[in-house]
Amino acid sequence: MLEPSPLPLLRLSAPVPPAASARIDSAMNRAITLSTLARLVASGAAVSKADLVSAAGLARTTVSTGVDELVARGVLGLDGVRPTPGRGRPADRLALCPGGFVLVADLGAHGAHLAVLDLSQRLHAHTHVDIDVADGPDAVLGAIESQLTALRASVPGPDPVRAAVIGVPGPVDGRRGVPVRPPIMPGWHGYPVTTRLRRSFGCPVLLENDVNLRALGEARALPADQAPLLFVKVGTGIGGGLITSAGVLHHGADGAAGDIGHIRVRGAPDVRCVCGNIGCIEAVASASAVARRLSESIPGAEVATINDVRALVSRGDPTAVGLIREAAGLIGEVVATLVHFYNPARVTIGGSVAAASDELLAGIRAVVYQRALPLATRNLVLANSVLGEYAGVAGGTVLGIEQVLSVDGIGVLMARA
Ligand SMILES: [Zn+2]
Repeated sequence: MLEPSPLPLLRLSAPVPPAASARIDSAMNRAITLSTLARLVASGAAVSKADLVSAAGLARTTVSTGVDELVARGVLGLDGVRPTPGRGRPADRLALCPGGFVLVADLGAHGAHLAVLDLSQRLHAHTHVDIDVADGPDAVLGAIESQLTALRASVPGPDPVRAAVIGVPGPVDGRRGVPVRPPIMPGWHGYPVTTRLRRSFGCPVLLENDVNLRALGEARALPADQAPLLFVKVGTGIGGGLITSAGVLHHGADGAAGDIGHIRVRGAPDVRCVCGNIGCIEAVASASAVARRLSESIPGAEVATINDVRALVSRGDPTAVGLIREAAGLIGEVVATLVHFYNPARVTIGGSVAAASDELLAGIRAVVYQRALPLATRNLVLANSVLGEYAGVAGGTVLGIEQVLSVDGIGVLMARA
């Protein structure tokens, strides 16, 4: 039984040849072609050979040979016909055949979205569980493994799990599959997250930063001309994710690109950040920073939580709204600088505070348009996240399916199908 999906169909990218093979021979060319065709069908961008010719920009005969091979090996199948305009013969409608699932775990500081999807992006099950990343990797990953296993078991059928994607709220080394000195995740530095989950689920596992996942999900839910895209998440911390004009994540040399929470802002109060430095944007303008200031501003009040901030802001409480406006001004300064540096087509503001009220977006927008020069803001769209809390699951879906239908993955699929 399929759940109504909160996600639109997401665009999948054309494959990049594996870095290990510098030489592209005809076998590699063929694998790239097959991977491209399968991803276009999985994206919903093409359902017939004619669609594939225009979407892939490949010759008709290349597409025809590739589709025939994918059909012969059970990767694509014919799913009825689609009427063509005019008097033409109805076109065969193509669909991905192999069963199998992608598991996504999108971890925040205090909760995780878990989802089970198939290769055609259909959402079969999803849930939200409370976790605390500060409990350490053994406790948290143990809980995630058992919850994901239960969620998979709730979906009928014997199809295998073909890939899993996990997002965590800290910097990661995606190649090694380990978190790298994550400030709010004690005990996680260097922990072999992907190795552990690969053993549990018996499939390739990808580790990504949580804001990167959101940035990717958001960019692939929007038209291609909305990239380059900068995603700014304002929650317990402040983080950023960068999507290039080609629609892919920009990780930087060590995976630290977009980690904007520790940029220092001029004129910010001298507050010590979890990273040890003073005056980081995260220490003065995150939802936790606002919660702390809210507690200080109401004498005798209980310590406010992020949920309290969200509730007060959505009710229009003047103290909370004032603090959010102040935070928005500081975040706006950082975003204006980044807009000059990166010239994005879109800046997306995400996180629970942005979802609760437009104050944060309005405040950031005011500063960015005032501070940044016209060339950088002429066509800039600055908006709240279109996917909201599901942006991370969307990004995980994209990464997982792209892995299964990658140049390497398609070979595995054809051998088994
Ligand atoms: Zn810091």
